[in-house]
Amino acid sequence: MRVELSDINAAQRVIAGLADATPMILSPYMSAAAGQPFYYKCEMMQPIGAFKLRGAMNAVANLPKGTRGVTCCSTGNHGRGVAYAAAKAGVRAVICMSELVPDAKVEGIRALGAEVRIIGRSQDEAQVEALRLVAEEGLVEISPFDDGYVIAGQGTIGIEMLETVPELEAIYVPLSGGGLAAGVATAAKALKPDIKIYGISMERGAAMYESLRAGAPLEVEEVPSLADSLGGGIGLENQLSFAACKELLDDVLLVTEDEIYHAMQVLFYEDRLIAEGACVVAIAAMLAGKLPKPRGPVATILTGRNADMKQSARIYAGQSVQLGEREIKGRPYGT
Ligand SMILES: *Cc1c(COP(=O)(O)O)cnc(C)c1O
Repeated sequence: MRVELSDINAAQRVIAGLADATPMILSPYMSAAAGQPFYYKCEMMQPIGAFKLRGAMNAVANLPKGTRGVTCCSTGNHGRGVAYAAAKAGVRAVICMSELVPDAKVEGIRALGAEVRIIGRSQDEAQVEALRLVAEEGLVEISPFDDGYVIAGQGTIGIEMLETVPELEAIYVPLSGGGLAAGVATAAKALKPDIKIYGISMERGAAMYESLRAGAPLEVEEVPSLADSLGGGIGLENQLSFAACKELLDDVLLVTEDEIYHAMQVLFYEDRLIAEGACVVAIAAMLAGKLPKPRGPVATILTGRNADMKQSARIYAGQSVQLGEREIKGRPYGT
């Protein structure tokens, strides 16, 4: 099975008026840096603060008849998306997470009306509970990236971007499990076959990058990153997003934590926008000279705004940030 433009068109009808039509804005600073118009698709302005709502709404709308409820074990933006979409549809949602998840995240998901199951001390144990809910209570698990309806939902972003700027030469996509990249690339290449789609991840723990290099889905060690929404594996049994990224992405690039740190400052001081570290990987790659020089308008997706604001404030102030054992050295912007 693969996702087609027709699936993405169907998703457009599902999310119309609920999770679509985010602004696409021009960044004067990044346009000067790139030498061509550089746009941001502002998905951090979704009601849950991230694009994941598109895929979650489409998946919930297409549940098999008689579904008793949905489950997932993402504590991040996908969990929020599923909780919000299920509440809107009047479907039971159970989000499974480990004891290690911070209270603020638990409360955020509860506030959207979902049940929260806190099980064990690792994401793996939470996953066991999700599988139990599927087997014993008949809930349907919604994957954050390896689900045809999720991929089709994320793909609606690609259609909107080309509707706004039809002459886009390239789209730079923050890349983790690849649902976003698969959907956007499928839509964009169907509408404009010569468009280039680049995936961008952080240097350490980039599961899709390593898997594409190895030619098969691979486990990688998860490492703390300023781009925390880009962490996690792609699933050794990956059915859809790995094959789509392999076929449709023109290249996949990596950026360092220092480059992400600086790009977060750029987005804040130059564009006056706040977003997660995951969103700025394309800004980081462009400023580091890692992307091919554009010959026409280009765009990236500001995927989410659910950042740790204490950490963000330190970065804007030019202070050092601790990531697990590692310290990212502070540097005030413009020095
Ligand atoms: C999920 C997520 C991504 C990556 O999406 P994938 O489909 O997993 O590649 C990027 N940015 C943010 C903010 C996300 O929540």
